[in-house]
Amino acid sequence: MSESQKARPSGDANLIARVRAAARQEQFLEVVSHEEARARFEKHLDLMPLPAETVALAEARMRVLAHDIVAAVDAPPFDRSNVDGFAVRAADTVGASDGNPKVLTLNTEVIACGYSPAAVVVPGTCTAIATGGVIPRGADAVVMIEHTELVDSGPPAVELRRTAAPGQFVSYAGSDIARGETLLRRGTRIGAREIGMLAACGLDRIEVVRRPKVAVLSTGDELVEPGRPLKPAGVYDSNGAIIAAAVAEAGGEPFIFGAYPDDAAVLEKAVREALATNDMVVLSGGTSKGAGDLSHRVVSRLGKPGILVHGVALKPGKPLCLGVIGDKPIAVLPGFPTSAIFTFHAFVAPVIRARAGLPPEAAKTTSALVPIRVASELGRKEFLLVSLIEGEQATIAFPTGKGSGAVTSFSQADGFIEIDALASALDAGSDVQVTLIGSTADAPDLVIMGSHDVALDVVVGALADRGFSARTLAVGSLGGVAAANRGECDIAPVHLIDPASGNYNKHLVGPGLILVPGWRRMQGILFRPGDPRFEGRSAQEALKIILADAAALMVNRNAGAGTRVLIDKLLGGARPPGYANQPKSHNAVAAAIAQNRADWGLAIEPVAKLYGLGFLPVSPEHYDFLVVESRRARPAVQAFLTILREETTRERIRALGMEPAGG
Ligand code: AMP
Ligand code: MG
Repeated sequence: MSESQKARPSGDANLIARVRAAARQEQFLEVVSHEEARARFEKHLDLMPLPAETVALAEARMRVLAHDIVAAVDAPPFDRSNVDGFAVRAADTVGASDGNPKVLTLNTEVIACGYSPAAVVVPGTCTAIATGGVIPRGADAVVMIEHTELVDSGPPAVELRRTAAPGQFVSYAGSDIARGETLLRRGTRIGAREIGMLAACGLDRIEVVRRPKVAVLSTGDELVEPGRPLKPAGVYDSNGAIIAAAVAEAGGEPFIFGAYPDDAAVLEKAVREALATNDMVVLSGGTSKGAGDLSHRVVSRLGKPGILVHGVALKPGKPLCLGVIGDKPIAVLPGFPTSAIFTFHAFVAPVIRARAGLPPEAAKTTSALVPIRVASELGRKEFLLVSLIEGEQATIAFPTGKGSGAVTSFSQADGFIEIDALASALDAGSDVQVTLIGSTADAPDLVIMGSHDVALDVVVGALADRGFSARTLAVGSLGGVAAANRGECDIAPVHLIDPASGNYNKHLVGPGLILVPGWRRMQGILFRPGDPRFEGRSAQEALKIILADAAALMVNRNAGAGTRVLIDKLLGGARPPGYANQPKSHNAVAAAIAQNRADWGLAIEPVAKLYGLGFLPVSPEHYDFLVVESRRARPAVQAFLTILREETTRERIRALGMEPAGG
């Protein structure tokens, strides 16, 4: 072994050392359960609200009340008229009606808002009063001006045409807010309504809990700040933004430190500064396999008690690291966006809420049915993000399934379900409790599940303009067919060729489904502009050339994709280099070619344009809709079908490079 190492040229030895460093992952010393991790972390933390500070009422929105607010005044502050009319003694009005009006002498004052009445309403008299006016001494009711008539002749008097019950149209002092009443409780988050109540009590300064200052740092050589151009192999720092926003939602004050390269010295300096100026530090990245556990090593050098948890039996979120330096919590979240936000909510948000004076978040749950079997890893509690769909019989929780690296899975999910650490799978048809995320909107009017296409957004946009909400879940053509057959969606967009007949989609129509034509998308060969093997040729010519060229690298598509069927037909049994590379979307094919990871592949024309690639047309693909017959009469489905046929829609679809079907 050492012989062979000696024999290695120094450049190779250097490479091997770099590979070892990149692949090194300090073993998780001890992977603990979710509960154990929280207990260890919180044992070292002060979870009492931070001290109070005073803010102006105008700055109080979103802050948390530090103390109960006891009303110092009544609202209204006096007995008040609710209408324009006349303040009367109810006893004087008994028996008044249109046929038998009662006449009362008019007192000489008029009670407008802000006027303190002086005259007493003695028996047989009344006083004109405006809405909001102070009820004068002697009066106990108000008669609306609409039920009175001024007497034309003689001394000023009014005819009443209605009997007034005592208290009619009077709001008594303190009936809204009573002096001495506890108006708002500490721990209440102040919104517009609370601000209104505080102002009505005459408060212009409010004692609120100081917000915990939370530093947010991202690490990774690949990270690029949003707003800057994306460098090759770069990824936008989305964790920094979402964590900072989640900190604010949990009642903290985020300080965005930005993204740092994977350099221990640079990171350590930044983390030390963050700790010095904040109550808490949240890092993301540099904690999972391959990164050399950079963040963890940095945290281990900062002080006592140090790292309390490194490794939690959770999916997503295993590499989570939790520590306390002095009395300040520090969390290193996994870099993958979904893992980062999940572990943030599970471990960090509760601490921020406690310090911010907010009560623990009450988890809202709903029961639902999981329609498909979901495999799960034994030994780790798994959180599965789901979209909720109203099925015929029950609410259905459909796994969103983009994986923990996805940015969109958390934001597009309605909630999550927990799969026990001891379960290896969740069976199809299982009843589950779904913990809802954020404010779950009402069920959508239309559920579309299947293959996604840019022109579909045109139809969905037009639906929204007409007041129909639609939810689209991109589950692929085959996933859409399955969902339509189970009645989980209204419409399934599909584009699958029947290899036997060469026809599109017709073979997918089963009982209870109807096929509605959508549009045609031209499929063709994508290549980098200027490549002489393709430029200026027909698809057939180009194909001949590349099949004879061992250096031409293709990018294929996944089995089950309509495009894959077409590729196999074109290749006629050939297996050119790159055939095994099988991404799942048109965009992935285009990206591989644009970034020089492949030379050619098959995709639709609009995608070629989007990536600035050359295109050699092969044949049109049919993108149609399977409509679930039992749901066809629903207004949203009807609107979808109408919009599909409208000329304005067809124009917009054409502008995207598709050809609408039918006439
Ligand atoms: P790491 O934990 O550093 O090994 O990162 C795991 C994965 O998460 C990699 O694909 C990173 O590119 C990605 N990642 C790490 N930090 C961020 C971030 N701040 N924003 C978006 N993705 C990130
Ligand atoms: Mg990293």
